Amino acid sequence: MKKTVLVSGGAGFIGSHVTVELIAAGYDVVVADNMSNCDLTCFEGVKKITGREDIPFVKMDFCDMDAVRRLFSQYSIDAVIHFAAFKAVGESVAEPLKYYKNNLISFMNILESGCPNVLFSSSATVYGEPEQVPVTEQSPRQPATSPYGNTKQICEDILQDTVKASGGALRGILLRYFNPIGAHPSALIGELPRGVPNNLVPFITQTAIGKRECLSIFGNDYPTADGTCLRDYIDIVDLAKAHVYAVRRMLDGKMEQGCEVYNVGTGRPVSVLELVNAFEKVNNLKLNYKFAPRRAGDVTAIWADPTLANEKLGWKAERSVEDTLKSAWAWELHLAGK
Ligand code: UDP
Repeated sequence: MKKTVLVSGGAGFIGSHVTVELIAAGYDVVVADNMSNCDLTCFEGVKKITGREDIPFVKMDFCDMDAVRRLFSQYSIDAVIHFAAFKAVGESVAEPLKYYKNNLISFMNILESGCPNVLFSSSATVYGEPEQVPVTEQSPRQPATSPYGNTKQICEDILQDTVKASGGALRGILLRYFNPIGAHPSALIGELPRGVPNNLVPFITQTAIGKRECLSIFGNDYPTADGTCLRDYIDIVDLAKAHVYAVRRMLDGKMEQGCEVYNVGTGRPVSVLELVNAFEKVNNLKLNYKFAPRRAGDVTAIWADPTLANEKLGWKAERSVEDTLKSAWAWELHLAGK
């Protein structure tokens, strides 16, 4: 029997890529999204890539428990991958209650649905400014520096506690993402930032296409080789595949603990300047950029030790940064109709 996976927030950047990979791996998928931060572009792209016109799509808000109950009675759902959340760090500082209400209540509603397998999309942000790099899953979490980051930590704790209290009825997986970038090789789905992008790669592609005048590189006086910050940029398709391996482990009864935690990264640090240079080189263009003051809240250097995911999930990041940056540019060109 085919298993069914609910992807909450499945019309967004990560959710749409995960939906494609789940379908490719033979799962049935139900996509649910309140469309608060996206349109149907990516969902339409998912249908084209998979050749599946029949993927169920439910427009709903996970903060609405009645809607959550209806969803779970309509479909027989074996596992949930939960993405539906607000994600703008700056906005979360300005409007903390909006973030705490939305991100926490929606997740608790999912847990209350009684679904026995829940995967939560966490973030490397829980490690803060790490004392040692690369970070393993055992590296200490640091106090969050924004309400957004705090919702990730609180949801991690909620899942851990709920699994513990469930007496084996609930299994949980926390995937801690590093910096997801790029787009599907078809260029039919990708990141669709609203307004001015906060993240580096969408800002780069929008500058290259002329939507933004100039990229500011935030800080070139960090204690790194070229003075710019180091991050672990993980290809979006590689990241999406990690979810398939994780869901399979849950559904096949392979988990060794009630709640497992995995870093999803490449293990390869790349500086902002290296990324910009690689983007120029692989796409054969010049980017208008300047050095600007540091951005508040940025950590100097963080990258993953992905050994645990490699060994336990059997997953490994495969795509090169170069190929990923080509895909990001192809997506921007696709959006521009070029
Ligand atoms: N960054 C930058 N210019 C931008 C956006 C980001 O120099 O317009 C830098 C940022 O300072 C950080 C890196 O790019 O060192 C990655 O930032 P991003 O916001 O993409 O992800 P984060 O690591 O903050 O989650």
